[in-house]
Amino acid sequence: MKKYFNKVLIANRGEIAVRIQRACKELGIQTVAVHSTADSDAMHVKLADESVCVGPPQAVNSYLNIPAIISACEITGAEAVHPGYGFLSENAHFAEILEAHNITFIGPTSEHINIMGDKITAKETVSNLGIPVVPGSNGKIEDLNHAKKIAKDIGFPVLIKASSGGGGKGMKIAKSQNELEEAFNMAKIEAKASFGDDTVYIEKYLETPRHIEIQILGDKNGNAIHLGERDCSLQRRNQKVLEEATSPVIDALKREEIGEIASSAISKLGYHGAGTIEFLYEDNKFYFIEMNTRLQVEHPITEIITDCDLVKEQISIAAGYNLSKKQADVVIKGHAIECRINAENPKTFIPSPGKITAYHPAGGPGVRVDSGAYSGYTIPPYYDSMIGKLIVFGNNRRDCIDKLNRTLDEFVIEGVETTLPLFKDLLKNEDIISGNYNIHWLENYLENHP
Ligand code: ADP
Repeated sequence: MKKYFNKVLIANRGEIAVRIQRACKELGIQTVAVHSTADSDAMHVKLADESVCVGPPQAVNSYLNIPAIISACEITGAEAVHPGYGFLSENAHFAEILEAHNITFIGPTSEHINIMGDKITAKETVSNLGIPVVPGSNGKIEDLNHAKKIAKDIGFPVLIKASSGGGGKGMKIAKSQNELEEAFNMAKIEAKASFGDDTVYIEKYLETPRHIEIQILGDKNGNAIHLGERDCSLQRRNQKVLEEATSPVIDALKREEIGEIASSAISKLGYHGAGTIEFLYEDNKFYFIEMNTRLQVEHPITEIITDCDLVKEQISIAAGYNLSKKQADVVIKGHAIECRINAENPKTFIPSPGKITAYHPAGGPGVRVDSGAYSGYTIPPYYDSMIGKLIVFGNNRRDCIDKLNRTLDEFVIEGVETTLPLFKDLLKNEDIISGNYNIHWLENYLENHP
């Protein structure tokens, strides 16, 4: 077995911290968990070889507390840090500080995080590398007159977006010239309040696209590959709810075409690590919206259909090895669907933290559950409400849906409310069964099924 690192610190919590520990253990790497005082009993702490408390419950004082996390590395002698997703995973400053301490950041360089973290720079960069982007302003919008000119050129409806945006914040639609001034001002105010930066740009608002993203991997030796697409069009408030791979609307030829564009751009950029290039897809065309320079929540569906462990790849890339696969070795097989299980009311989506009194995950062939939940675990109210992911593999889409139906019936979580019933309802719907949906479908469905 290759010795990538002796000890890795995982700067995260919940299901993703457990997921990363599993990869480390299989690679013979010692694991260090960090946790807040609210997470002392969490699964990721129980499973780690060592753990360090890095602060009080609020994430800003614990999981985002860079000095405390660096101290935890120094105390435990961790040689590398895996940031998971969220928290510090796309924080270029954190990556730089680790570099300065001679600790390896399991992810791309701080320079690449910075480029992709600013949406205007990201769009410009990828466009120069041959990736198709949504028509719009090539750069920042200076003032209302500038906005009017661009909107006139591309045609309404338009979307005003925050350059530092994330989580769907700082985005406003203007359907006509009358709505432009208000949308422009509101987007700027929201961007300033959420990100401390009111830089905005304009894009053509696509009315019925799907959200399709390409998984890429690059190593430090200039190799880059893609692992096909994930369809994440089922969203509520711009948050993904259910994801599937492959997409019901992408055939092998289209996959190869966009995948080749994505991996060659990554290779030209000299990007290393895992990454996701997100596109909107409408009328058989792809339009780049952003690149995430980290592991995604929905990475398991790609792992299953490509037989590739993305976390192990990230670790091996960080240690300087070549990718384990060449493009020709990537074979896509079958179909996978992931359901995000949130501790929330399935109708109102109001979080439901508290004690899980009974927990029996589903099982059987082709079923994977990534979770930090267990019977007797108390879900703290301080973090996001996702408590696990149910991931199902089938030989084809129909087989996968049948298996998911069976699995949802088996899964038991008591004591808190969860979104499991929502998935049972969705799987009865003809549009879902036939794969006929776009990014607005779920919001419309929820409005009609209160
Ligand atoms: P964030 O980083 O805030 O999540 P994204 O640029 O990734 O922002 O967009 C999030 C979601 O917003 C997309 O998945 C899509 O649903 C919608 N969206 C973004 N840009 C457009 C656009 N030009 N037209 C239509 N919808 C868009």
